[in-house]
Amino acid sequence: MKKISLVVPMYNEEEMIPLFFEKMNEVLSQIKNYKFEYVLVNDGSRDDTLKMLKEQKKVQNNIKIVSFSRNFGHEAAVCAGFQNADGDAVIVMDADLQDPPEIISKMIEKYEEGYKVVNGKRVDRKKDSFLKRTTASMFYKVIKKLSGKIKVPENVGNYRLLDKEVVDHLNALPEKNRVFRVQVPYIGFKTCEVEFVRPERPKGETHYNYKSMFRLAMDSITSSSVAPLIWPMLFGLIGCGIFGMLFVVDLVLYIIQLVDITFIPRFNGLGFLILISIFLGVSIILVFMGIIGIYISKITTESQDRPVYIIDELID
Ligand code: UDP
Ligand code: MG
Repeated sequence: MKKISLVVPMYNEEEMIPLFFEKMNEVLSQIKNYKFEYVLVNDGSRDDTLKMLKEQKKVQNNIKIVSFSRNFGHEAAVCAGFQNADGDAVIVMDADLQDPPEIISKMIEKYEEGYKVVNGKRVDRKKDSFLKRTTASMFYKVIKKLSGKIKVPENVGNYRLLDKEVVDHLNALPEKNRVFRVQVPYIGFKTCEVEFVRPERPKGETHYNYKSMFRLAMDSITSSSVAPLIWPMLFGLIGCGIFGMLFVVDLVLYIIQLVDITFIPRFNGLGFLILISIFLGVSIILVFMGIIGIYISKITTESQDRPVYIIDELID
């Protein structure tokens, strides 16, 4: 009988644990022909998550607990889950039932049809705030433009099924800047989508605010593209063209004495505009320096070569 591992990252999810298992066990009991194993990653929770997982393991033995030494973050938890899962396929999902377990059977159907990656795709974002929807749609537009041959699918979060072959490739990726939603399309293989409507979180609170979403967006961009590093050069070339031309025209006019003053004094009345232009120019340079800074920070992280996570307890 084939085995499917369910990777679930958990950070301060004590309120969700009873609901999660109740729902999961109900849904999974209806799926025949497969064994299921939970790989639950406790990402340094400060509440009773770990204690409750240990309790749960007493009543059901298909649970593996990977508990971190501190909070390393969602991506690190997903990474640890995959590295400790040995099923023929692995499904990764959130602990808060926002990735509805009801579609697991559909994912398995697609897996049986031969798809090695089955993505869960959110079809209805009406419940998200206007700001979240607009920033998300902007993000997908940018990433689509930048990521070139890596096709990062729109409205696909972490909820997916991956065949063991894909999981092996995922685990072999050496990078420390791990962004699961970029790594999976990078690896490739036959992919399809199963659609779902994302319900609200029944208990507990989201761990993502706008700051952490911005960080995730930056991590995604730097992990899928180096194109932004070319932007300053393109911008600079355009600037060189425009200002170079002005310079030459100005010089020629001055030399042939058609005008006895250069452009600059003639702009006197526009002094304020010139001042603003200088500040604008400096701001643009700072933005570009920032972009380069973000890439340098990634190089620093990679060269430090620290482990993505540290395990305190591994309960099998
Ligand atoms: N999570 C985690 N480590 C963190 C933050 C979140 O393991 O530092 C887990 C969390 O317990 C949940 C999943 O990642 O299972 C998604 O988090 P959340 O529901 O807060 O995100 P949202 O659904 O709001 O995007
Ligand atoms: Mg959630």
